[in-house]
Amino acid sequence: MKICCPHCTYEPDGSRDWHCQACSTEFDMFEHAGSCPACGYTHVKTPCIAWRGGCDRISPHLDWYAGMDEKLLMLGIVKDQEA
Ligand SMILES: [Zn+2]
Ligand SMILES: [Zn+2]
Repeated sequence: MKICCPHCTYEPDGSRDWHCQACSTEFDMFEHAGSCPACGYTHVKTPCIAWRGGCDRISPHLDWYAGMDEKLLMLGIVKDQEA
């Protein structure tokens, strides 16, 4: 499962490069699928990190996931649908 910016080739490296919009805690946006570990606020948009070589564009969080459906099922975000 690869995570990368949908606009460029930047791949998050697990660093706490994002700030929570609700409580300003620094956290890794991809550790809990956009949820802040401090307050639980869910970020539906994720900015690319310019100072790590990214493009600084803001994308829907889910667009960062390649092979998204499988990952979402793992996370329980999308309920398993009957075929
Ligand atoms: Zn927070
Ligand atoms: Zn980017």
